[in-house]
Amino acid sequence: MSSKTFYLETFGCQMNVHDSEKVVGTLVSEGYRQVETVEEADLVLYNTCSIRDKAEQKVFNRLSDYKKYKKQGKTFGVLGCVAQQEGEKIFERAPYVSLVAGSASYRRLPEMLRQLEAAESAAREIPFDRLRAGSPPAAAPPPAKAGGLPENAGLRDDASVVATAGTSAGKSGSRKPAAESLIRITGLDDRETDECFETEFTARSNPHRGYITIIEGCDKFCSYCVVPYTRGKERSRTSESVLAEARQMADLGYTEIQLLGQNVNSYKDPEGKPAGSNKNSRKTFAELLAAVGEVPGIRRVRFTTSHPRDFGRDIVDAIDAVPTLCDHVHLPVQSGSTRVLDAMQRLYTRDQYLERIAWMKAAKREISITTDVIVGFPGETESDFAATLDLLEEVGYDAVFAFKYSPRPNTPSLKLDDAIPDEEKARRLEVLMAKQREIQIASYKRYIGTHCEVMVEGKNEARAQYSGRTSHNKTLNFTAPAGASPKTGSYASILVTGSFPNSLLGELVV
Ligand code: SAM
Ligand code: SF4
Repeated sequence: MSSKTFYLETFGCQMNVHDSEKVVGTLVSEGYRQVETVEEADLVLYNTCSIRDKAEQKVFNRLSDYKKYKKQGKTFGVLGCVAQQEGEKIFERAPYVSLVAGSASYRRLPEMLRQLEAAESAAREIPFDRLRAGSPPAAAPPPAKAGGLPENAGLRDDASVVATAGTSAGKSGSRKPAAESLIRITGLDDRETDECFETEFTARSNPHRGYITIIEGCDKFCSYCVVPYTRGKERSRTSESVLAEARQMADLGYTEIQLLGQNVNSYKDPEGKPAGSNKNSRKTFAELLAAVGEVPGIRRVRFTTSHPRDFGRDIVDAIDAVPTLCDHVHLPVQSGSTRVLDAMQRLYTRDQYLERIAWMKAAKREISITTDVIVGFPGETESDFAATLDLLEEVGYDAVFAFKYSPRPNTPSLKLDDAIPDEEKARRLEVLMAKQREIQIASYKRYIGTHCEVMVEGKNEARAQYSGRTSHNKTLNFTAPAGASPKTGSYASILVTGSFPNSLLGELVV
C-alpha cells in the first residue's frame, strides 16, 4: 500500500467536479492513495470555486481549519479558481499552504507534485539546529534523474518553487515540516495556453455516467464573471480525442456521457481537414454531439453549458436526428431585460434569446429547458426585474438556478454604480424562486399518467424507493413491485403517478 495519502475536497461546478476526477487519477498514477478524511491524509487539496464570494469564503474557512493539523506535518494545496484568482496572496492569507495551482496548469500537476515532494524531502534534510540558528533558505531540489526527481525546481518560469523550509523534530525524533515550513509551489501563469488538461488517468466517481471536457476556458468576458480570468482563454480538444474518450468509456460500460465546457457551443475543432470536406473533417459542436451520440453502447448524451449567443439551430436539428441526445438544454439567460443583458455584456437581446427558445419548442421531441438567472445586477430596476419574471412565464422553464449578483475581483461590473442592497437582492431572489415554483408545480403535473424512461441512480432503503433521472433531467423517485430490484445504472420504464415542484413520483413498469 502506498505511503503517500491525499484528501481532496471539491467546490463549485461540474467542470470542477470533473477536473477533480482527473486530478485524483493523476495523483493515483503518481503513487498516492485517496483517503476519506483530512486526518488520514498527508496531502490535503481543495479544488476551489470563486464564481461568487460565498464560494470563495468557504475555502478560506476550510483553510483556517488546518491550523489544528499543521503540527502533524500535513501538506496543503489550493487548486482551481480561487488559486488562480488570488495567486500568491493565498500564501499570505494561509502561510502553510505549499501548492497553489490554477486549472490551466493541471497538465503539469505530476511535475508540480514531484517538485513538492522533492522540496519537502530537501526540507527534511536541513539540520534543525541550522534552522534555529537562522539558516538561509534551502536550496532548490536536486535535478531529476530519469523518472525520478524533477528538474531543478524553479527553473521554469511557469512553475515556481520556493523552499524556504523549516523543520522540527517530532515527538519520536522524526523530522517533519514544522509550523515555520514554507514550501511554495505555484502553477499560475498558464492562462494563455493553447493546451487542454488531457490525462489517461481520470478517476470517474460514477461507473455509468461520466463527463468529458470538450472545451476549456472562456473568451466571452461577461461583465460580472471571473471565469475568463481564472480558467484562461478558450481552447477546444480535437473531436478525435473526444470521440476516442467516448469510445473508451463505452467499452468500460458507461452509457451516459455529459460533454462539458463553460461554453460548449463555441467549440472549435482544432484539427482535421476543413469542415465539410469528408467524414474526418473538423466537426462543429452539433456534429461532435451527434457523433458522440452514435458511439455504440452510449444511450444518453448531455451537454452543458450553452451560451445563447453561440447556440445554433443545428443543435436542435441534432437532437431531432439522434435519439440518444437527451431532450434537455441548459441555456442560461441571466436576465429578461435587454438593457441589463447589455450591461452584462451577454451579446444577445431578450428577443434573440426567445428566438432560440422558439427553435427548441419547435423540435420533434419536447425539450426540457433550464436556465441561470442573476438578480440584483447593478442598476437592475423594478421593471428590469419584472421583465425577468415575465420571461420565466413565457419560457416555462423546467428549472431555474438563481443567484444574487456577487461583485467579483477583476470584473468590469465591479466599477458599475447603482449597487442594489443585499436585502433587496434577497427579496428579488425569493420572489423569483416563488414564481418559478408555481411554474414547476403546474408543468411537472403534466407528466402524471405518462411513461418515462429513467437511468436508475440508487435506492433509498428507508423509503423503499428507487431514484432515477429522465432524459429531461428530472429526478423520478419510484417504487418497484416485490421481487423486482432494478440495478443502479440500468434503464427502466416508469409510470408517473405523482409530482412535486422539483421531482416526479412513479412505479416501475414490469
Ligand atoms: N458559462 C456559463 C454561462 O455563460 O452561462 C455559466 C458559467 S457560471 C460557472 C454559472 C453561473 O453562475 C452563471 O450562469 C451565472 O448565473 C452565475 N454567476 C456567474 N458570475 C456570477 C456573479 N458574479 N454573481 C452571481 N452569479 C454569477
Ligand atoms: Fe462566465 Fe460569461 Fe464565460 Fe459563462 S460565458 S463562463 S458567464 S464569462
